[in-house]
Amino acid sequence: MDYQSLFEQITRAANPAALGGGHVVGHTPAPTTTDPTRFGFAVADLTAQVCGTGDWQVPFPIQSLSKLFTLAMVLASDGDNIWSRVGKEPSGSPFNSLTQLERDRGIPRNPFVNAGALVLTDRLISLTGHACEALRTFLRKESGNPALNFDMRIARSEQRHGHRISALAHLLADYGRLDNPVDTVLRHYFWQCSLTMSCHDLALAAGFLARHGLRADHSRLLTCSEAKGINAVMLMGGTYDAAGDFAHRVGLPAKGGVGGGIVAVIPGRGTLAAWGPALDRHGNSIAAVTALDTFTTHTGWSIF
Ligand code: GLN
Repeated sequence: MDYQSLFEQITRAANPAALGGGHVVGHTPAPTTTDPTRFGFAVADLTAQVCGTGDWQVPFPIQSLSKLFTLAMVLASDGDNIWSRVGKEPSGSPFNSLTQLERDRGIPRNPFVNAGALVLTDRLISLTGHACEALRTFLRKESGNPALNFDMRIARSEQRHGHRISALAHLLADYGRLDNPVDTVLRHYFWQCSLTMSCHDLALAAGFLARHGLRADHSRLLTCSEAKGINAVMLMGGTYDAAGDFAHRVGLPAKGGVGGGIVAVIPGRGTLAAWGPALDRHGNSIAAVTALDTFTTHTGWSIF
């Protein structure tokens, strides 16, 4: 594969200045990570060789991308038991919908909407004693980046402003779906969202999903069928109420976050990570979706 010319095409197509529009999320001024002209893209193969273009080594807040990894950690311990607490269906609703959680009587539609993520974090607290630290340790190992860390300003700012996610946590508690105190679950959730990683780190960290559950060192994190299950649920819900449009354009399982990152998996071949802070109305990065679309269109490496 001639990555050089492919990267040039991707950079041209996904150039944020040319795409325009969108909004950037961030209560705290963080000029590097909220500058809408930023753009990065990385590809990792099954042997953890990674290359990229643009701002592919600049760390940004992973936000909802953290849900992918908390799900993997919980599945690695609990196996299929977790699916009695959280669904596997597409949400068709915004990622922070309160009405959907109420209609579903406290069983979140899937692990990638905010209510689902809170249930996973709650379980990870019970399993590890300290969910966000366990997640940081996991991600440092999987990405090979020992410097990967939380952004305290983001965690504190979301803690102050996160009224809707707090409402979701209280609703879950009202239905008896949380084992730990609401405040504890929220604190760990905000901190996990504030972890900052680059496209380089993310493409490596998600590698086990392309290797059918195996880490880069060939040790097993998940069974083949658990890894398949995560990829399937990602395809259905990883980009929220735009999952249909995303599957149509890109044709890969993927998870997005409001930090502007998207991680996509090509099972049996590798992983992709793209980043651009400007978001569409569903909370997905405009530049990252365009970059992934360009990649699969030019390589034919989609699952369809
Ligand atoms: N911290 C964000 C929130 O809870 C994460 C959501 C996201 O990335 N989609 O709203």
